[in-house]
Amino acid sequence: MYPDLNLFIDGQWRKTDTDIPVLNPATEEELARLPCASSADLDDALDAAVRGFQLWSLTAPRDRADTILRAAALMRARQDDIATSITLEHGKPFKQAQLEVIRGAEFFEWDAGEAMRTYGRIIPAAPGNKFSVHHHPVGVVAAFSPWNFPMSQPARKIAGALASGCSIILKAAEETPAGALHIAKAFEDAGLPPGVLNLVFGNPADISGYLIPQDPVRLVAFTGSTTVGRHLTQLAAQHDTRVLMELGGHAPVIVCEDTDVPKAAVSGAIRKLRNAGQVCTSPTRFFVHDAIFEDFASQFVTRAQETVVGNGMHDGVEMGPTANDRRVPALSALVEDARDKGATVATGGARHGDTGYFFQPTVLLNVPDTARIMQEEPFGPVAVVNRVASLDEAIAQANSVPYGLAGYAFTNRADYIDRMIDEVEVGNLSINTLEASMPETPFGGVKSSGYGREGGTEGLENYMTIKNVWHSASIA
Ligand code: NAD
Repeated sequence: MYPDLNLFIDGQWRKTDTDIPVLNPATEEELARLPCASSADLDDALDAAVRGFQLWSLTAPRDRADTILRAAALMRARQDDIATSITLEHGKPFKQAQLEVIRGAEFFEWDAGEAMRTYGRIIPAAPGNKFSVHHHPVGVVAAFSPWNFPMSQPARKIAGALASGCSIILKAAEETPAGALHIAKAFEDAGLPPGVLNLVFGNPADISGYLIPQDPVRLVAFTGSTTVGRHLTQLAAQHDTRVLMELGGHAPVIVCEDTDVPKAAVSGAIRKLRNAGQVCTSPTRFFVHDAIFEDFASQFVTRAQETVVGNGMHDGVEMGPTANDRRVPALSALVEDARDKGATVATGGARHGDTGYFFQPTVLLNVPDTARIMQEEPFGPVAVVNRVASLDEAIAQANSVPYGLAGYAFTNRADYIDRMIDEVEVGNLSINTLEASMPETPFGGVKSSGYGREGGTEGLENYMTIKNVWHSASIA
């Protein structure tokens, strides 16, 4: 049901002297013990990654793509096993975990294709001269993936690195190690050479503090909170190491007066509660036009109340627990603060049940700008539904946070859409859908939501350097 947990270094699985428990967040029961890497393990991973880079960076892009596609096919074939591990360690409903496995495989498939399209260019030059631009893999990548998507988050980083010809040391989240472990197993079975992909676990600050300053590390790739991202960026800057940062979001949803209210309200509530709200693109701040506010709010609240909350392994469950014991107190504090400042808690607002890290689907209405939740990402099943008088006000509210990852709108008015494309400060804007990205589209943020893009034709740029070549036919 749940795999035996090991580090994966230089093509070998290994245990360590220190381990920590991995808990099922729905039951609080121990699932397995997770080995934590020592500095000697990390040194081995670095040595292996250097050797892996020498080999993999000189492997033909088509051959790299073939290996990645073989591994992705194995992930698809193992969909239910991987999804079971994800639901056990993370809590999300099994069907959502199944979809996550497919999305992870799609990230590999897209980047495998892109491996063969990292084109350079020829720049016109004087006779007897040729200018050409070449892309080369940057080197060893140190990557850190979070716990909200145990398989597809590591997949994004491993796919980008391997497709580009880099080797990678990934520290996956301690709470949810099995998703990344299944990926490593698929690559081992697909014949990836030892050292190209190394998987470690342990104290996040100790591992990032040890790996980032090391000379072979040329890129730090992180997904997680803005606070931690800033810290890692500062550490990387001291060693002139580049970074790819996918950080927090606090997505606005602009609900215009011309929209189909029942569809928008139901879609909004369902998407808000997906993954128990633990998504950096989660639609959280709904700014609803005065003319439809009451109707939208009441239908949104009704759908939130109908949500079936429970153990993700049980049939019919729509929302599982939050992923760890930190979320319930953090969410309770945000709701209490909003209530104290004058918001209406229309539904939810507290822990659900007394076992597991469940939080009730929660809708806050008429939340004042002074409430913490108007600036802080809840990262949980809590929505804000506020009224606005105009598009001007909605756009001003949308842009009033330090984040700029995803933004959404419900409208069919071309003039409104035109303005939002120009004025809403986000990396991903979606109209009439609460999906933010696909493997073939570039995903990333502006402002404090990070730097760089994953996916799309832009996705491999982070993992590559540019070499300009000037070839003169004779010695000048
Ligand atoms: P956190 O900031 O302590 O950790 C977030 C992630 O960063 C975790 O996976 C953790 O293992 C990792 N991390 C923490 N310190 C690190 C370090 N020094 N070096 C390397 N990795 C480190 O917070 P948390 O309680 O785990 O999560 C809460 C917040 O994190 C949320 O409010 C949300 O903003 C953010 N988060 C964002 C995403 C995302 O997809 N952008 C995913 C998970 C968490």
